[in-house]
Amino acid sequence: MYPSKHVTYSLFILLFFLIILPYGGIFPYTLIFLSSILIDTDHYLLYAYRKKNLSLVKAWKWYLMLANNPKEGQKQIPFLHFFHTVEFLAFVFILSFFYKIFLWVFIGIAFHGLLDILSMKEKKLFEQREYFLIRSLLRKR
Ligand SMILES: [Zn+2]
Repeated sequence: MYPSKHVTYSLFILLFFLIILPYGGIFPYTLIFLSSILIDTDHYLLYAYRKKNLSLVKAWKWYLMLANNPKEGQKQIPFLHFFHTVEFLAFVFILSFFYKIFLWVFIGIAFHGLLDILSMKEKKLFEQREYFLIRSLLRKR
């Protein structure tokens, strides 16, 4: 899903919850919003790792090219986006028992993941992403 759509949906959910459940002021909702957006930095990290290039513009163009060329996208499979893995989500969830701030981060990440899954299902790209870090590590051996 494009970052602009994540921003739009996250803003919508931010406002929705702020109105119906104004718990704790704007801070928790801002944190949910920011974590639901910033989780996508792992897309850039994957690009930088694979292409050995730090250009944010080239990373953006690479993902656009892959989105428009399914055959080229197939060659790049699987995409391991670390912050999108089940293990990372579980780690943040466990942290939330010790530090309440991570509960808001967890909600943001989970919301983002839900949007990604729905979007990838719709585009029939669900199989392109690796969702489990452990499976990715075992595959490389
Ligand atoms: Zn994402």
